[in-house]
Amino acid sequence: MKKELSKPQKCLIQRNGVEIWLDNEKANKLQIILNNITEHKFVEFEGRTINTADCTGVYLSKDMEELTHRKNGQWQCNYGTWHNKNERCECGRIPSKFSNEPELKNKPIKFKERLKKEFPKEHKKMYGGGNNY
Ligand SMILES: [Zn+2]
Repeated sequence: MKKELSKPQKCLIQRNGVEIWLDNEKANKLQIILNNITEHKFVEFEGRTINTADCTGVYLSKDMEELTHRKNGQWQCNYGTWHNKNERCECGRIPSKFSNEPELKNKPIKFKERLKKEFPKEHKKMYGGGNNY
């Protein structure tokens, strides 16, 4: 049986720009090594020899996603949506008709939570009053 590869969840970034993606388990091992060395040295890791002086850090995949968005010139609004550079944020705009389902369906969860607070009746009509979006 083929062993399923776990999804890489953390990324070791080197000063030279090399990104080494690791699953949580391997990353944790590396983090223990990095946290416990008191002086810079070469460490053997996953077939690589890494100069710990060149390690920028171990980052979460979330951090890397954000970095990619920002590199692409995108920005994140208060509702947590990434918008293109010149795009206006309409995440907080309440549609004139609450029955305009497709528009509401694509709204971020934060907006729906706001809707629940400010328009509980309409929210209940749209989503049954629950939080299952
Ligand atoms: Zn937005």
